Amino acid sequence: MAGLVSENTIEQIRQASDIVDVVGGYIPLKKAGTSFRALCPFHREKSPSFNVVPSKQIFHCFGCGKGGDVFRFVQEYEGLNFIEAVRRLAERARIPLEVDNDPARQQTRALKDTLLLIHEQICQRWQAALNQEGGQIARDYLEKRAVSLDAVQLFRIGYAPESWDDTVNWARSKGFDAALVEQAGLVVRKEGTDRHYDRFRGRLMFPICDEQDRVIGFSGRILQGDEKTAKYVNSPETPIFSKGRVIFGLNKSKRALLDTKTAVVCEGQLDLIACFMGGVTNVVAPQGTAFTPEHARILKRYAEEVVLCFDADNAGQNAAVRALDALLGAGLTVRVASVPNGKDPDEFIKQNGGEAFADVIKRAPGFFDWYLDRLVATNDANSDKGRVTISRSMAEALAKAGNDVVVDKYLQKTALKLGVSSDAVRADFKKQMKAGPAPMEEEYDMPSPEEEQVSYPKPPPPEITLLQLLLENDDIVPQVAGVLAPEWLTHELVRTAVERRLEAHHNATWPGLAAWIGSLDDAATQRMITEALATPHGVADASTVLLGSSSKPGSLQLLRDKWVDSQIAALNRRMTDPETSMEDGHHLQRHKDELRSFKGKSLIP
Ligand SMILES: [Zn+2]
Repeated sequence: MAGLVSENTIEQIRQASDIVDVVGGYIPLKKAGTSFRALCPFHREKSPSFNVVPSKQIFHCFGCGKGGDVFRFVQEYEGLNFIEAVRRLAERARIPLEVDNDPARQQTRALKDTLLLIHEQICQRWQAALNQEGGQIARDYLEKRAVSLDAVQLFRIGYAPESWDDTVNWARSKGFDAALVEQAGLVVRKEGTDRHYDRFRGRLMFPICDEQDRVIGFSGRILQGDEKTAKYVNSPETPIFSKGRVIFGLNKSKRALLDTKTAVVCEGQLDLIACFMGGVTNVVAPQGTAFTPEHARILKRYAEEVVLCFDADNAGQNAAVRALDALLGAGLTVRVASVPNGKDPDEFIKQNGGEAFADVIKRAPGFFDWYLDRLVATNDANSDKGRVTISRSMAEALAKAGNDVVVDKYLQKTALKLGVSSDAVRADFKKQMKAGPAPMEEEYDMPSPEEEQVSYPKPPPPEITLLQLLLENDDIVPQVAGVLAPEWLTHELVRTAVERRLEAHHNATWPGLAAWIGSLDDAATQRMITEALATPHGVADASTVLLGSSSKPGSLQLLRDKWVDSQIAALNRRMTDPETSMEDGHHLQRHKDELRSFKGKSLIP
């Protein structure tokens, strides 16, 4: 489905998607006064700072700052883009989506369609190249790794010829614009020229597909070359490919994931293919080694449990530990499969068959059991130093579980392994858990830029209160619009937000609070506003607070007077400047007198 959904339909969907119902469908909400509270699904915490405010149809977390309307929540929670979130909620509300004719959207869609077409066609070309003369080296490699022809076909493995301009020439012959093929990430522009060369040269090509089975990128494995050449070259980020969101193999395995509710996560493409061909089809691989919170959230849509099956070497085991954060954070249960004799899944299956591997998966212990065993195996549990390391590391990992029952269970197990009393371990755990973020957390892969927290300088209280009251009380907007000059506001984000609110009033385009917040494209502004709206202020009469009464000036008047003072101070500085001419001086003085006459004047007509 291409194109845009009309504003009307989006509003209709919003009306049908009460934020408490929608959020409550994902996480348990507890009523707290006029709002609802929960442990934040976007960051780990022990006491709830995640708020849903039904009267305003918004959510906000005071811990991590995430906030917005119902569409934003679904986007964040499910890792979707806006239009996908609209679709999700439309399905839930059983509202059919019509297609609109917005030119900008159509253009983006058209670009994506073309990029998909280019990917599909080059994929076919590389599949063909694998069977041509130049592909011998790739066929030899596949034979050596015992990858069957069925697997080659099923996963559409291909070969990118050893050449600098094979793709360049192919694109030209097909009539694809070089800039477009560059945007697809298949060719690279030579710096300072408009000439291009192939990104993938002499490599075994694994197409990466989206959940709809469309080719959106490639991973190319080296077949020969020196140490300096990267073993894998992947597609760069493109309008259709974002590696933090793509899970290799999900297009093939999603049905099995849903059926078994379990996702076996292995490290690389070849491991995955071996598992899949060996009959373990509920298998995925993160794209690259970093396992992002986004990956975990996507998996959670299909499975309840994850079995990590990383290489037995240290790097693989560390990757398992690092993935824990993201996985537990998404609410998945984690087990770890250790393939016997230090083999990787590919080798193991080749030697012992798929059933034996399925058995390894079945018997995989829970993460904390596995971790405790690993710590005991890699540290000397008979020395004090070893015992401290083991106890400390367990405490760090268990802090991530955020569940007292689990902590207590493994505290006992740790004590037993170390041959010390559980009270001693408990005391040590307590110290550790208070000590704050564990080193493991620092090692953890950074979230993608869009997931990083947005911050903004704190606005002065009267200004944020003004914004808050303005957004909550539509009926006072006309009065405020009649007297307020936005330049009185010193905080840039508040000023812009107030301006936009007043503009919507002047143009009679106010779409309602939640829709308006949803329309703001600046993340810091969104965060500031949802934070303000989720903060109780106890103001009963907004009009009196802002505009004042006969006996007391309102906060707008105070803002104006403060502004007048700052203007006068600026004028004074200019007047005392020796560069200022006599004539200018007179002019400035008049201006100053004018300003002064305002000060203290009531805003009530
Ligand atoms: Zn949060």
